[in-house]
Amino acid sequence: MAVPKRRTSKSKKRMRRTHHRAPAATLAPCPKCGEMRIPHRVCPNCGYYKGERRIEIED
Ligand SMILES: [Zn+2]
Repeated sequence: MAVPKRRTSKSKKRMRRTHHRAPAATLAPCPKCGEMRIPHRVCPNCGYYKGERRIEIED
């Protein structure tokens, strides 16, 4: 198995990791209320999913 000849420098390690970051959250408008919400999740604004009320929203 290939073995690294040199320890990766702090600089090289950091340069490589400049691309490490969480992707921006994907949001899509709720078909019921139009509020932006995470796809495939119950809408936190109106509580609907697949055209049905799944959770009660209190304000
Ligand atoms: Zn909604």
